[in-house]
Amino acid sequence: MRIAVIGTGYVGLTSGACLAKIGHRVICVDNDEEKIAVLNQGRIPIYEPELKEIIDESLRANRLYFTTDISKAVKESEVCFIAVGTPPLEDGQPDLTYVESVAREIATSMDSYRLVVEKSTVPVQTGKWIRKTIERYNHKQVPFDVASNPEFLREGSAVQDFLKPDRIVIGVENERARDLLVEIYKPINAPVLVTDISSAELIKHCSNAFLAMKISFINAVAIICEATNADVREVANGMGMDKRIGRAFLDAGVGYGGFCFPKDLRAFIRIAEELGYDFRLLREVERINEEAKQRFVRKIRKVLWNLRDKNIGVLGLAFKPNTDDMRLAPSIDIINALLAEGAKVRAYDPQAMEKARKILPDIIYCETAADVAQEADLLAILTEWKEFKQLDLRCIKEKMRLPIICDGRNVFERSEIERLGFTYIGVGR
Ligand code: NAD
Repeated sequence: MRIAVIGTGYVGLTSGACLAKIGHRVICVDNDEEKIAVLNQGRIPIYEPELKEIIDESLRANRLYFTTDISKAVKESEVCFIAVGTPPLEDGQPDLTYVESVAREIATSMDSYRLVVEKSTVPVQTGKWIRKTIERYNHKQVPFDVASNPEFLREGSAVQDFLKPDRIVIGVENERARDLLVEIYKPINAPVLVTDISSAELIKHCSNAFLAMKISFINAVAIICEATNADVREVANGMGMDKRIGRAFLDAGVGYGGFCFPKDLRAFIRIAEELGYDFRLLREVERINEEAKQRFVRKIRKVLWNLRDKNIGVLGLAFKPNTDDMRLAPSIDIINALLAEGAKVRAYDPQAMEKARKILPDIIYCETAADVAQEADLLAILTEWKEFKQLDLRCIKEKMRLPIICDGRNVFERSEIERLGFTYIGVGR
């Protein structure tokens, strides 16, 4: 099928490349000229495992194209996916102006039937607004349908998540739209759930809110564990063995971040409010998440006393491993709090340092994980990159001024770390 994917970010680029991989002809569109130029030079603007390989493969097979020309892409495609950003506004509402602007451009460019699919994460009822917008600007009265096809991929494993999803959710208003989307996803072996558009929109917001709730739940449990000498990992393991609960997203730490959970939760709370319901449960989830970061800083303060002129080495900046994404990463708030109290921060992340430099300009970026330890009074682990588990901790200890590890992701085993002579502070242990 001929498909346009509008918005070539983490979701649009992965979706476009994967749709091309499974046999479709895909045009990825973005209004960021630099991004498209980079892609047309055969490079990719983000770090995402396996993505480069499938882009190269699809480019060679002439099934994938990159352009800034939305009108041409819409004219050449039967199905148009909207995958632009929906960033949070000051008041927590998602900024839907990018979605609206794309809907308008599709309306003025289409010359025969088009299926317009919202893939961006949007509040329930956005589909109605997309329909209304297209109707307003569809001066040639071209037939079209709107559908919702929320994306559940996770950064860091986006390609595998797209190609082997737990489910594909399709929200449609009629059979024509359903048949087109079912046809597009036919090569992917996954259950397909067909719903109305509002339900599909809600499935996405509810899934993210529920996962964030699991994280905040276990972070609250971690506080109880610390007060009782219990181990939150054992508690999570025991809970997770119950199939009704599951072990995933029960890792205590410095809280969730990224471009999805914080903004989607906010947006869900806002739309619930607009619809007349105060979703207090989710406001508490947010509060616990903020507290997880503050508690971590308090732990550092408790062990180091004053932070002024203390050297703190930070391992991990990205909001999670295997991505370079720094958006709303917990590291930002934690590092800013340390800097505000006069600490000096040296940091290392395997992929996110380029993006971090723009957000955290006042810290020193190190070439290796070991460099971070130089003269450090404390080492803080903020992202659970695999390579940190393999560090030569003896060598790290020799470089440090004080051998203290504050492990915000419970990467290390306390007994091993203490055997090496470190003071170890974890979360909920
Ligand atoms: P992103 O910021 O990486 O990408 C969005 C892209 O849209 C940018 O490249 C931007 O230049 C482009 N864009 C904006 N306006 C445009 C326009 N008028 N025409 C063409 N391009 C335009 O964002 P993302 O992480 O890919 O997220 C996109 C959507 O998918 C969001 O709603 C997000 O919540 C949702 N989502 C994200 C993830 C994730 O892990 N990142 C997962 C599932 C869903």
